[in-house]
Amino acid sequence: MRKTKIICTLGPASDGAEMMRKLISAGADVFRINMSHADPGHVRELVPQIRRIADECRRAVAILMDTQGPAIRTGDVKTDLHLKRGDILELTVRGATSEEAYSVDVNYPDLLNDVKAGDTMLVDNGVIRLLVLEKGADRIRCKVLTPGTLGSRRHINLPGVRVNLPPLTPKDIADVKLGAELAVDYVALSFVRQPKDLDQLRDLLSQNGSRAKVMAKIEDHCAVEAIEAIIQSADAIMVARGDLGIEVPYEELPIIQRRIVKLCARLGKPVVVATHMLESMIHNPLPTRAEVTDVANAVFEQADAIMLSGETSIGAYPEECVRVFDRVALRIERSGGAGYAENAQLEDVRQKTVASAVLLANSLKRGSMIVFTRHGTMARNASNLRPRRAPIFAFTPDEQVRQQLALSWGIYPVRIGFCDDPNATIEAAEAYLREHKLTKTGDNLVIVSDVLAGERRVDTVQLRTAR
Ligand code: PGA
Ligand code: MN
Repeated sequence: MRKTKIICTLGPASDGAEMMRKLISAGADVFRINMSHADPGHVRELVPQIRRIADECRRAVAILMDTQGPAIRTGDVKTDLHLKRGDILELTVRGATSEEAYSVDVNYPDLLNDVKAGDTMLVDNGVIRLLVLEKGADRIRCKVLTPGTLGSRRHINLPGVRVNLPPLTPKDIADVKLGAELAVDYVALSFVRQPKDLDQLRDLLSQNGSRAKVMAKIEDHCAVEAIEAIIQSADAIMVARGDLGIEVPYEELPIIQRRIVKLCARLGKPVVVATHMLESMIHNPLPTRAEVTDVANAVFEQADAIMLSGETSIGAYPEECVRVFDRVALRIERSGGAGYAENAQLEDVRQKTVASAVLLANSLKRGSMIVFTRHGTMARNASNLRPRRAPIFAFTPDEQVRQQLALSWGIYPVRIGFCDDPNATIEAAEAYLREHKLTKTGDNLVIVSDVLAGERRVDTVQLRTAR
């Protein structure tokens, strides 16, 4: 059983029923919907469709809605602009018209205040570099320094500039409300700059009746500087290497990734490593050796999940990408892991109880952990400690908790009704595992559950043998 979870970004290459089924059976655990590109009307149909397909496949699949956030983006172009070195490109704001052969509107009027003649701007993952020549009232004239093709809604990075956009733009607010209505499992906030950005998202979600978990995308230097506080206030973290690799010198990237993964292990928060993991497979059926090694590194670091972006949203080989992730993860997990969880802070009694269960599971040759969890907390506590071999079967009565746990390292989530008598629930769970051939007779079962002690419920760790 693979421990590292796989996130697939949906898009034109993958959001049909047939391909989603293929991705799930190849091993996808989470589907990501990128609101920078997805049309809200389409999302409204897509989410229930994912739920139906996951049910048919009898798999827990989490849905992650990824907001655009305070990102500067170009608008729509009728046809792609093929920009050559030395060409003039005019960036307009507030829908101004341009006389130039090449022009595009930008969603951020303050761009005019944030750049000056002589600055360079980076467009579309840094592929296109522009030199600012002059500014007008509603336009910026630029010269193309490195050529490239500019499609619609490309991102503009201004490294080192604190962009004057709110943490949640009006578009984000509308998208988050849609996510709440559709009961998505996670909402990711792009370009988080400070912990209170996350509070704002969380408030908006709860005002709209959502229990979605909040994921902080770390993608610029502001976030890196406030990393510990951000991890503390987030439910989950994404190392968003695409933008991060432009906003900070790229040689810092591996160091920052490792630091974040370690901190998440210490503070007990799920962490996702994202972007460009199998970039060449957008066009090729096989990964480069460097990509295999990058994926292996994230698996070795014991990140909760590894993510595919363009590879599955617009690539030619979405299913093959999931298979590569699956194969590499399974092999690397067998070879061991970094063990950063050894430094996990155990703050409350419940975490300490789970830690003793993990210690017990690690001392046994053949065994599984079984965790009963109403809100997912006890299961996540177990996952955070990265048990060495034992899979974590997490039983919960709550469908959304089951889906959310699909993102967490090593967890196999199952929905089960809880009986008044905890022992009856344990027996039902054991029967489930037996029937689905997830445990064998004689296996050690390390069980974390509450039991009735008179009127009180107390957490216990039990060791049983599978029948
Ligand atoms: P994006 O975020 O794909 O929404 O840009 C991920 C990243 O920047 O790495
Ligand atoms: Mn990004």
